Amino acid sequence: MTNTVPKILIVGGGYAGFYTAWKLEKLLRKGEAEVTIVDPLPYMTYQPFLPEVAAGSIEARHSVVALRRHLKKTTVVAAKVTGINHAGKSATISPIVGDPYEFEYDQIVVTAGAVSRTFPIPGIADNAIGLKTIEEAVAIRDRLMSNFDKASVLPAGPERDRLLTVVVVGGGFAGIEVFAELRSLASSLVKSYPQITFDDTHFHLVEAMGRIMPEVSLKTSEWVLKNLAQRGASVHLDTQLTGAVDGNVELSTGETIPTDLIIWTAGVMANPTVVRGGDLPVEERGRIRTRADLRVGTAEEFVEGAWAAGDVSAVPDLSGGGVGGYCVPNAQHAVRQAKLLAKNITAVLRGEQPREYFHKNLGAVAGLGVGVGVFQSGKIALKGPIAWLAHRGYHGLAMPSWERKIRVVWGWVNNFFLGRDMVNLETVQSPRYVFEEFAARPRAAAPASPAIDPKSVAGEKAPVAGEKAAVGS
Ligand SMILES: Cc1cc2nc3c(=O)[nH]c(=O)nc-3n(C[C@H](O)[C@H](O)[C@H](O)COP(=O)(O)OP(=O)(O)OC[C@H]3O[C@@H](n4cnc5c(N)ncnc54)[C@H](O)[C@@H]3O)c2cc1C
Repeated sequence: MTNTVPKILIVGGGYAGFYTAWKLEKLLRKGEAEVTIVDPLPYMTYQPFLPEVAAGSIEARHSVVALRRHLKKTTVVAAKVTGINHAGKSATISPIVGDPYEFEYDQIVVTAGAVSRTFPIPGIADNAIGLKTIEEAVAIRDRLMSNFDKASVLPAGPERDRLLTVVVVGGGFAGIEVFAELRSLASSLVKSYPQITFDDTHFHLVEAMGRIMPEVSLKTSEWVLKNLAQRGASVHLDTQLTGAVDGNVELSTGETIPTDLIIWTAGVMANPTVVRGGDLPVEERGRIRTRADLRVGTAEEFVEGAWAAGDVSAVPDLSGGGVGGYCVPNAQHAVRQAKLLAKNITAVLRGEQPREYFHKNLGAVAGLGVGVGVFQSGKIALKGPIAWLAHRGYHGLAMPSWERKIRVVWGWVNNFFLGRDMVNLETVQSPRYVFEEFAARPRAAAPASPAIDPKSVAGEKAPVAGEKAAVGS
């Protein structure tokens, strides 16, 4: 390469990518390296807040972090990386507009995260929604709220029941959190809809295993099941979803649940575009094979100039925890791996040795709707309001940057005094509908026959001198 300043390319500006770039900005000396981060989205999403965004407890924009605002020394490119030719140290960048081009680098950091993992169940691809993006969280909230509006003008019957039924698939952390948060939202909405009672709303969670939330103890998970049952939310254990067609969810138990909102949270898989579109080594579960020092490769051999972290990577868990010996895909690891990755790249650029990643799981904390939560760290378990405060305290502090922390925490304070914001903006999907309805359009061309005077057509008035046919701003 002709440029003597090493180029670092970061693929994905989520948790791991954003923190890598942020830390590199602090560590690198002037002129030591040029850092470019590529992501189709202009923000990093704080995914642990998605259930609360879906429940209207956090404003959607507050739970994302603008890359350009916080990465002042990094070049931010609005694009996807669609190919990696590491043998040639080049990546294919497909911008959000324009033609793809090749980008040459010296060091690549793959942090493209994970996507929802689904199974070929009839109707799921077309009718369900995931919970990995802020757009999905907003759409879920808007759908539930708009279904309340629709149900409020319908007579009691199957269509009304369908609109007021929510089905969540997957009893992991994300599934249980969104399920419980939406139950909390629905219970609070009922107070504003005299036409709808608590008993009119139906919540079902489908879990293939015999328990929920494997991250907490069995005892704690059973407390969550009991709490949900008390709040009118049913959990179907040892049950699989077999179909989601024509507004009905079919279960392996033979049960059919009519619903208008199916949320799929039954697992994630490493980003296939980046994993399959490159020549970096991939392990059996489709993740980039990564060493404990966060270089791509095996314990014996590393791929020079290639690094990975977060959900897209299989990083050995040296603490002895993890599943199959690897770090589980969570933010705890993504953030810590990213910070070490930035230190290790800097070390390697300076001819020093990288360090190995070691992190002992701190435990798990989940929000289950306003005032309810669970926290588990080893044998210590907290439940109810204290755990809920721990959840908010932990995540309020973990949100990157003071600018974002203040927005989120201030929103919670507002909600405490002013109540949950229950505005449904589903029509944002078709923002021109009012304008279009009333917009003046050019008249159809007048017929050629001289016998008809267009000014005499009933109900129409020809513009008079000085009057504009249409107004624009
Ligand atoms: C609902 C929910 C709740 C969660 N709660 C918790 C929790 O309480 N605690 C916890 O520890 N973890 C939690 N997690 C998990 C945690 O959020 C993830 O493990 C973490 O986000 C992984 O970080 P990452 O950087 O690997 O991926 P991500 O944060 O997903 O970032 C990946 C980035 O790559 C970008 N990208 C995708 N494709 C391309 C491409 N082709 N080119 C360039 N960029 C690309 C994406 O746009 C995205 O910005 C939760 C996850 C969810 C979904």
